[in-house]
Amino acid sequence: MVQKVSKIWMDGELIPWDEAKVHVLTHTLHYGLGVFEGIRCYRCHDGRSGIFRLRDHINRLFDSASVAQIEIPFSREELEEACKDLLRVNDLDEAYIRPLVFIGEGVMGVHPYDNPVRVAIIAWRWGAYLGEEALRKGTRAKTSSYTRHHPNAMMTKAKICGNYVNSVLAKREVVKLGYDEAIMLDPDGYVSEASGENVFIVKNGIIKTTPPTTILPGITRDSVMRIAKDRGYVVIEERFSRDELYIADEVFLTGTAAEVTPIREVDDRIIGDGKPGRITRELQEIYFKAVRGGLPEYSHWISYL
Ligand SMILES: *Cc1c(COP(=O)(O)O)cnc(C)c1O
Repeated sequence: MVQKVSKIWMDGELIPWDEAKVHVLTHTLHYGLGVFEGIRCYRCHDGRSGIFRLRDHINRLFDSASVAQIEIPFSREELEEACKDLLRVNDLDEAYIRPLVFIGEGVMGVHPYDNPVRVAIIAWRWGAYLGEEALRKGTRAKTSSYTRHHPNAMMTKAKICGNYVNSVLAKREVVKLGYDEAIMLDPDGYVSEASGENVFIVKNGIIKTTPPTTILPGITRDSVMRIAKDRGYVVIEERFSRDELYIADEVFLTGTAAEVTPIREVDDRIIGDGKPGRITRELQEIYFKAVRGGLPEYSHWISYL
């Protein structure tokens, strides 16, 4: 259950949590055309709270809106300030922040014409998305029978609400079978991404991840690639097949919610020695230091409250 806080930011105002409601004729509720973001704020080493890569997330929200042809009635600066205000007013030193842009009521039918565009920002405390144990010991993944979107069917570069029906189906399928996370293949059968995370593999010291074709280009993916390159690792963006996962030395997932989560098993094949690999652990450790402001070379990624 989401842990309730005092206020939600909605259409330019901070309103009580329980009053942040919408009408059932809300267009996005029927047809799924809306866009969102997922951002984390961490309590940093010096005691201040800092939002990780806030500007990049807000920029991606505007990119998603552009793909979806939705005009956001606020500026980037206004939404950045709104995220910060929301955390301050709710006394949240650490939080997950969910901006959501959706089309309100007016006409029905698939064309929303000029129904109002509405914006909400919700923040709540959210620990490790796949669990603390998953972060430490690794998680068990299964390839879903559902194919990830063809880039000409759903726009994969955008966090569009309706895109996630595919993720929900995949996740439910594998959870029912006793696994933790779903890995999805693209329409050509190559590994695409997990239900809400990007996928990395390590083989013979070389780090590989899927190119930004059928995936959501994750900001965590970008951060981890930067960190790895700065440490001298070779990072390749190249398609790979599911059996390349099986024979990888290490596999891990990246995402704002999931952070850097090691995978210890894929489709009942043990990865490496069944424990998070050396490079995965190294990147995870640096990532957690970076998001908490512990590394000067990455401090420009943090917007302090
Ligand atoms: C949000 C998301 C990711 C991860 O993106 P981050 O910017 O790292 O949070 C990966 N895949 C999908 C499908 C996503 O929705």
